[in-house]
Amino acid sequence: MAKIVVIGVNHAGTAATNTVLDNYSGNDVVAFDSNDNISYLGCGTALYVGRQIPETDCLFYSSKAALESRGAKIHMQTTVESIDFDNKKVFARTAGGAEMEESYDKLILATGSRPVVPKLPGIDLAGVHYVKLYQDGQKIDADLNNPEVKRVATIGAGYIGVEIAEAAKRRGKDSLLFEMQDSCLAGYFDKDFTSGMDKALADNGVELHYGESLKEIRSSNGTRVTSIVTDRGEYEADLVIMSIGFTPKNEVAGGKLDLFANGAFLVNANQQTSKPDVYAIGDCATVINNASGTTDYIALATNAVRSGIVAGHNVCGTALQSAGVQGSNGIMIYDYKMFSTGLCLDKARKAGFDPVHVDYEDTQKFSFMSVNNDIVKLRIIYDKTSRRIIGTQLASYVDVSMALHMFSLAIAKGMTINELPLLDIFFMPHFNQAFNYITMAGLVAK
Ligand SMILES: Cc1cc2nc3c(=O)[nH]c(=O)nc-3n(C[C@H](O)[C@H](O)[C@H](O)COP(=O)(O)OP(=O)(O)OC[C@H]3O[C@@H](n4cnc5c(N)ncnc54)[C@H](O)[C@@H]3O)c2cc1C
Repeated sequence: MAKIVVIGVNHAGTAATNTVLDNYSGNDVVAFDSNDNISYLGCGTALYVGRQIPETDCLFYSSKAALESRGAKIHMQTTVESIDFDNKKVFARTAGGAEMEESYDKLILATGSRPVVPKLPGIDLAGVHYVKLYQDGQKIDADLNNPEVKRVATIGAGYIGVEIAEAAKRRGKDSLLFEMQDSCLAGYFDKDFTSGMDKALADNGVELHYGESLKEIRSSNGTRVTSIVTDRGEYEADLVIMSIGFTPKNEVAGGKLDLFANGAFLVNANQQTSKPDVYAIGDCATVINNASGTTDYIALATNAVRSGIVAGHNVCGTALQSAGVQGSNGIMIYDYKMFSTGLCLDKARKAGFDPVHVDYEDTQKFSFMSVNNDIVKLRIIYDKTSRRIIGTQLASYVDVSMALHMFSLAIAKGMTINELPLLDIFFMPHFNQAFNYITMAGLVAK
């Protein structure tokens, strides 16, 4: 029997809380969250803003009521401001200003991340938005309802920026996408692999500005954004959506826990921080990257949920270890789908590998199968010396997401490119080809 306090009860905190409630009876679980909602699926913001789904209720899978009906005590709109690690107490403040104190036996930090806000002139103007919370999506949506808002500038072409640029275009606005790197989705895909995504965006009217850095946001009326300035020029914009990355929220620990280079709480495979009985999970914590074999920071809901499960078991006495992650991800823009896992070439070099890659392109099925068939692009990255597979990228109009899971497992288990050609891959004309692109990539790899 333990008193378990959880700070932050979104994806990671909810997973940890549910793990404790599902598997161990008799514990006292108390959770705090600054926000007024639990479990918002951020991936739904672009879907709703772009009206690919009609409403937002479906984007929540838990609530204070759901967790409390199972025995937890949840304090919403209550921010934990400090922690006394020596005496095992947290100090919180409600939205109304009331102070609270709670002791713990085990503490789980699930404080997540916040959008990066660059220090640039005009950043505080009305009409400049971020994409993180449910409330952020609602503000963007309300602004897009304004017929005066005609041109939307999205800053940052990571997966969130690309999705929101598509959503703005779907809402009938001029949509301009700015990215300081030379390509979109740069953290996940090699530059020469993203041409299909660029084509899907451009063919559907999204104006692409790669290799261009935001310098200033301007207002001709002194209040609301009217243009942005980059290192290449000035562009009219009635709405600016900032999506240049996230930074872990660590201030609650008051500098008393060991941190990773970007400020995430450093954790071991049991999600334990540098203090006994204090665990960290989700976007505020590090992960173990199986592709590089190093500690890393990869902010994904999938990692948040898995780390929450690991911490939930550990705080109740079961020494469960994380299996590590590969950073597997996927995106679909105007029906064009891209998936990746592990390291892209640039990241592989930075991680100290001597990476080589094999590309293979073919239709998913035989050409005589005309339904739901299209070209699939596959890139497998492996280390020249060890031959170990360290990254994979896939792109197609066909849904090939399931193939990515196999490569994710291959990386996790240290599979080499030499093992790929003889891997048992089934064949059936409705689904694939006898000499499919996975087998073929393995056969032609040098
Ligand atoms: C637009 C968007 C789309 C995304 N799409 C995907 C996707 O398709 N797939 C995917 O895997 N991931 C996706 N992600 C990433 C995913 O949403 C995050 O990785 C996930 O939210 C992390 O969950 P978390 O619980 O660790 O942190 P958060 O979601 O950041 O939640 C942290 C919680 O802690 C609370 N909190 C913080 N500090 C305190 C405090 N001191 N006291 C009390 N409460 C506190 C906050 O209010 C918040 O509710 C997306 C993210 C965004 C923004």
